[in-house]
Amino acid sequence: MAFDYDLFVIGAGSGGVRASRIAAGHGARVAVAEEYRVGGTCVIRGCVPKKLLVYGSHFAEDLADAKRFGWNTNGASFDWNILRDNVAAEVDRLEGLYGQTLENNQVQLFAQRAAITGPNEVRLADGSTVTAKYILIATGAWPAIPQIPGADLGITSNEVFGLKNLPKRAVIAGAGYIANEFAGIFNELGVQVTLASRGDKMLRSYDQEIVGKLLDISREKGIDIRLNFPFLGVSRQADGSLLVDGGDAGNIETDLILWAIGRVPKVAGLGLENAGILQDASGAVIAGDYNQTNVPSVYAVGDVTNRVQLTPVAIREGHAFADSVFGGNPRIIDYASIPTAVFSNPPIASVGLTEEEARAQLSAVKIFKSDFRAMKNVLAGRNERALYKMVVDGQTDKVVGLHLIGPDSGEILQAAAVAVKAGLTKQDFDDTVALHPSMAEELVLLK
Ligand code: NDP
Repeated sequence: MAFDYDLFVIGAGSGGVRASRIAAGHGARVAVAEEYRVGGTCVIRGCVPKKLLVYGSHFAEDLADAKRFGWNTNGASFDWNILRDNVAAEVDRLEGLYGQTLENNQVQLFAQRAAITGPNEVRLADGSTVTAKYILIATGAWPAIPQIPGADLGITSNEVFGLKNLPKRAVIAGAGYIANEFAGIFNELGVQVTLASRGDKMLRSYDQEIVGKLLDISREKGIDIRLNFPFLGVSRQADGSLLVDGGDAGNIETDLILWAIGRVPKVAGLGLENAGILQDASGAVIAGDYNQTNVPSVYAVGDVTNRVQLTPVAIREGHAFADSVFGGNPRIIDYASIPTAVFSNPPIASVGLTEEEARAQLSAVKIFKSDFRAMKNVLAGRNERALYKMVVDGQTDKVVGLHLIGPDSGEILQAAAVAVKAGLTKQDFDDTVALHPSMAEELVLLK
């Protein structure tokens, strides 16, 4: 049977664009459907604009610290409109580049929604149908919203980048990545922030000693953190402000609520049932090692599979899929020791096992730590300390985990993650001469 395309990709985000480009490079005839904007969550309303807001907001501290370095910063002021619009323009530029990549690789873009109508067929929003030998689902994930009265009075990370004005007060619901990142951004920009979460822990998957440091520093910076806070409902008050009902934990009055309580696979209306594609309890498309679903012609990569919700993972999955199916190079992704960062203020970065995980898995564990004040913070008179923690397998001396909180920790960890991934030992770290003066040198001086 002749198909219109060799590959039809649904979703032009990180995973979908990479898969399209690589498959086309292998000679496949490829089309991709995107209902919103090319680039997906990371480029349009995630990692990229978020990181730019992190940079933009951090000037508040940098300007305060600059005085101790001899700079007169009197009269410095901040304009949200300028930051927001410049970030939006940068996102537009990147969106253009992503579109260009598709075009350069002869990938046909359908700027509309697509739904699956069979194992080899999709229907586009304009009513036309397209057939393909393979279909790749790369629709990503979508912010979760709680099922409580008044939930629609809050916004999500989808809307936060376009705020007309910064609120005076903000309640951020959740204590994960997005909550901590926006708590840091808003706080630096002068918003009175309350971070409230239903659970007893922030950033559950991270080393809790490192997270404890973030909790202390965040509180020191003026962020009101409330754990074990149940969100029972939200209502609009006569003066236009919002009231969050926290039951026994009390009410909070605010001007903005940001739901940051996780992201769910984006499968609504995708027509999975039309091809009999299996999903797990969270709705995620179940994909095997080679990203193949239970329907042999249908594959899935990225957040929609709810394996690891991270852009670089989606990109790898998309690339591996294209190489496997069209490049004669079947390969699977190694999910071990993926470095991650939370761009909170200060940021956290981590790779490998936490202390808790190592103690549960290994018979002997050694922990090395350095709790120090970055040189820049000392001169600035900023009493904010960093913590670096190394988790070592006591039997083999291998470094099995590194957990950092402190300035630029994401930049520092990426290189160190290579060593952890390569299975290097504590002795290998010790044998490396320190690069002085730097924060990263702490990694080779741990006692
Ligand atoms: P996270 O999974 O990081 O955190 C979710 C938070 O919401 C947790 O504190 C969780 O609490 C709480 N929560 C979960 N369900 C509910 C609920 N029904 N009601 C109230 N609270 C709830 O999600 P985010 O939304 O912050 O981010 C989504 C994903 O996006 C992340 O998991 C990450 O993979 C990715 N991301 C990555 C970034 C990065 O790499 N820097 C940045 C931003 C996002 P509890 O632990 O108690 O369940």
